[in-house]
Amino acid sequence: MRQPVIGMVRKIQAIKGMHDALPTETPHWQVLESTIQSVLEGYGYAEIRLPILERTELFQRAIGDGTDIVNKEMYTFSDRHAEHLTLRPEGTAGCVRAVLEHGLLAKGVLRSWYRGPMFRYERPQQGRFRQFHQAGAEVFGIATADIDAELILICKRLWQALGIADVRLELNTLGTAACRQHYRHTLVEYFRSHHQRLDADSQHRLEVNPLRLLDSKDPALQPIIRTAPVLTDYLDAESQQHFETLQALLQAAGVTVTLNPHLVRGLDYYNHTVFEWVTDQLGAQGTICAGGRYDGLVEQIGGKPTPATGFAMGLERLLALMPTDTRQSRPVVDIYLVAVGAAARQCGLQLAEQLRNQYQQRCIIVHCGDGSFKSQMRQADKSGARLALVLGEQEVADNTIGIKSLRTGQAQFTLAQSNLPEQLGEYL
Ligand code: ATP
Ligand code: MG
Repeated sequence: MRQPVIGMVRKIQAIKGMHDALPTETPHWQVLESTIQSVLEGYGYAEIRLPILERTELFQRAIGDGTDIVNKEMYTFSDRHAEHLTLRPEGTAGCVRAVLEHGLLAKGVLRSWYRGPMFRYERPQQGRFRQFHQAGAEVFGIATADIDAELILICKRLWQALGIADVRLELNTLGTAACRQHYRHTLVEYFRSHHQRLDADSQHRLEVNPLRLLDSKDPALQPIIRTAPVLTDYLDAESQQHFETLQALLQAAGVTVTLNPHLVRGLDYYNHTVFEWVTDQLGAQGTICAGGRYDGLVEQIGGKPTPATGFAMGLERLLALMPTDTRQSRPVVDIYLVAVGAAARQCGLQLAEQLRNQYQQRCIIVHCGDGSFKSQMRQADKSGARLALVLGEQEVADNTIGIKSLRTGQAQFTLAQSNLPEQLGEYL
């Protein structure tokens, strides 16, 4: 028989790579999230909220075999009825599934955005977690480069609003599926001629997804990648035109662009525009936002061919870049209500409700739990409140309340409880 554990109970800790946002940190998150929301709404994007669990098949089809995400990063399990489910590793697949399921593409153009936690079984390190958060935008129904430019301008405006400087925009084109086909042959030949320098993982990629080799992080491969043939030399007229139009639009809008011919996405439904916003301030995890066009995906998920383009950004990385002065400190407490004795506690809860009806934007903390007058006043002071309202036995008996300014030397004075909601405004 197992012995019951006597004494200390083993503590349960959060799962590796998954973090709590503590009360001291949530104000920063709130600033970040509300800024993202207001910038996106300013461009006419509507929020879509999606389940965190989807069928595994959705991600297999949308993200694709041969990608790190599907091959080794997904949190996948069978539920009680042997359904294969996966915690979403990204937002685009679910978004496409939802807009198809609800027929949202019938109306033509849809500008949507989402945010929330994503899950990937990666090695946790700075800027890389197993539960992390993204906000993203997806636009359906527009094939032209102007909407790609709009997405980039949204990002630029957001960095500005968040006080984030020193990010550069890296841009490339993947062209059309047709010109990529041509390029793929050349690329495979090139890497085959260096096959002795490819490890097993890269050899596999070469077979299933050769473009992916271009964004390999393997240091041994970097010199070979640098001299690899580039897709931009294989563009057809349509691809060339989309790319040039986008660059001209960005230039006219004052966006500085760094062309990076090695920026890739490995799957066939990606085309034309691909971009990343990159900073040098976060070490190896420098990409804060990745985006591009995926005209082939809607069809791949079972819809009619629909042009689509979007981006996703990593919120933890944005938070790390936000300067402290664009973050907000904890909420400002206006009033701390001190109540000593059972009758005062009852009266205090009611009075505070009346004050909240009258002063809806104010933060009022009612002291709950025991505590002498002195210790309650100490907590009032520590809360940062400007005013303490004081209820003791005497005040309850007289239907009055004490008002004490905690930030000026003004002496405590008394008001009638019935006048409090009206008159308090003068002292706030
Ligand atoms: P990386 O090359 O860094 O693994 P990725 O190509 O897997 O990035 P995307 O799938 O394009 O990343 O996701 C968009 C953004 O989400 C990234 O640019 C990054 O800011 C953020 N992100 C992705 N994975 C993580 C993670 N595990 N932890 C924190 N943020 C992440
Ligand atoms: Mg990754």
